[in-house]
Amino acid sequence: MKVIGLLGGMSWESSSHYYRLVNERVRDTLGGLHSACCVLYSVDFADIERMQAEGRWDEAGKALRDAGAALQRAGADVLVLCTNTMHKVAGAIEEGLDIPLLHLADTTAAAITRAGIAKVGLLGTGFTMEQPFYRERLAAHGLEVLVPERADRELVHRVIYDELVLGVVSEDSRQAYREVIGRLVEAGAEGVIYGCTEIELLVGPEDSAVPAFPTTRLHAEAAVDYALGRASLPSTP
Ligand code: GLU
Repeated sequence: MKVIGLLGGMSWESSSHYYRLVNERVRDTLGGLHSACCVLYSVDFADIERMQAEGRWDEAGKALRDAGAALQRAGADVLVLCTNTMHKVAGAIEEGLDIPLLHLADTTAAAITRAGIAKVGLLGTGFTMEQPFYRERLAAHGLEVLVPERADRELVHRVIYDELVLGVVSEDSRQAYREVIGRLVEAGAEGVIYGCTEIELLVGPEDSAVPAFPTTRLHAEAAVDYALGRASLPSTP
């Protein structure tokens, strides 16, 4: 089994979910007492969040490149960056690596394409919904990406940073997310991406009238399938 390198802490709430998911996937695939071979480098999210808010992406890229290189030295065979947003600096992280980075937008796009869906709604942080790095990667896989209207984007972003990364799961926010998803469906979305690694702590497939694509679960499962030699890396656009 290959060693999975988890670059997490963004937030630790979602990294803890990743850790459970990779182990469950190995257990379900191999049975018995099998569990995932992995190493975790968990950053201090306060530092990363400040760099995001201040637009210091180069600095964030360097910090995560160093963390990724440390995971490689610790024996990782594949790097899993446990956040959608910080894929904005995936290129900088890859510069420090000889091992592959399993790009989250590629694993997500592969699942959507397998489901036969072409037009998909995207929920995530403001950075993920509004900046090109994630949407363009999905579009390069042939997907049409819809994002919520501005007020809904602000709500989705605020719930992530004020609640979910702190482990707060509120019924009011769940209902608000359901309504945002409903409006994306009305606008023509045939599926919806839970494009922030904490979102699936709040909503599940039952909260959407169209198929939901939980990026953390899809990413963790793709990492394990690769680590077990049952799948190759997803295609890059
Ligand atoms: N985990 C989140 C994501 O998937 C947001 C936190 C972050 O900015 O890294 O985008």
